[in-house]
Amino acid sequence: MTYLGVDREGLVDLDRLRDAVTDDTLLVSAMSANNEIGVLHPLREIAAIAHAKGALFHCDAAQSAGLVRLDVKQLGVDLVSLSAHKIYGPKGIGALYVAKRDPAIAVDALIDGGGHERGYRSGTLNVPAIVGFGKAAELCRESADADTARLRALRDRLWRALSAVDGIGVNGPMDPRLPNNLNVRVAGVHGESLLKAIAGDVAVSSGAACATASAEPSHVLRAMGLSDEEARASIRFGLSRFNTEQEIDAAAAIIADAVRHLRR
Ligand SMILES: *Cc1c(COP(=O)(O)O)cnc(C)c1O
Repeated sequence: MTYLGVDREGLVDLDRLRDAVTDDTLLVSAMSANNEIGVLHPLREIAAIAHAKGALFHCDAAQSAGLVRLDVKQLGVDLVSLSAHKIYGPKGIGALYVAKRDPAIAVDALIDGGGHERGYRSGTLNVPAIVGFGKAAELCRESADADTARLRALRDRLWRALSAVDGIGVNGPMDPRLPNNLNVRVAGVHGESLLKAIAGDVAVSSGAACATASAEPSHVLRAMGLSDEEARASIRFGLSRFNTEQEIDAAAAIIADAVRHLRR
């Protein structure tokens, strides 16, 4: 396994990827969008680099599903993983897309036993979760374009308000970026202290939800070259379909107040 670093913007260097993929490489795996800073990776280029050496390309699209169109055929993506609760569906269910290829892509079983789901995952199907995932996907398909435009406008509104506060900078590029993501660092303020100060009013995160048990600064921000101090001074906003302009304005005002208070 070879892990590749990212640049200051959180993007993989395609030349380094080209050097790292050899005739022995089975699989290249990349997120479509990073879960902390929302940067969008160049999937078509990554797929082409993998395929040039006969490797498969897997894309973790859990963050971008429902917000950024992903045409597996056009992009040449071989495997895609998705999680229902990221598109307003139930927790505990996801999907793995496996392209039809010749020879067929062989995927190891996740759970052995009865051989359900073509041997990928044995066990009786969780029908309510499957139906919920399907319904969530249907709703996403209907409202994706409108949601994307609305979320981008709300996110930009939040950023305009926050950038008026001294010493707040954005982490990662504004474009290409998920329309609902904003990740900022607040000079001189510890992200955890800010989180505590606004708890109950605004729900934000100081890193990835999967890493809340860890006191370490975000490895994503560290990989982008931020110092420990800058990474610890960062918080992440994830906007949802249900957020309103009033909530955005209230959140920005609460955060600006808390920052002033903490700095004092
Ligand atoms: C949330 C997430 C996962 C994990 O999915 P769960 O269903 O919550 O376990 C994996 N990858 C990315 C990019 C995610 O955002």
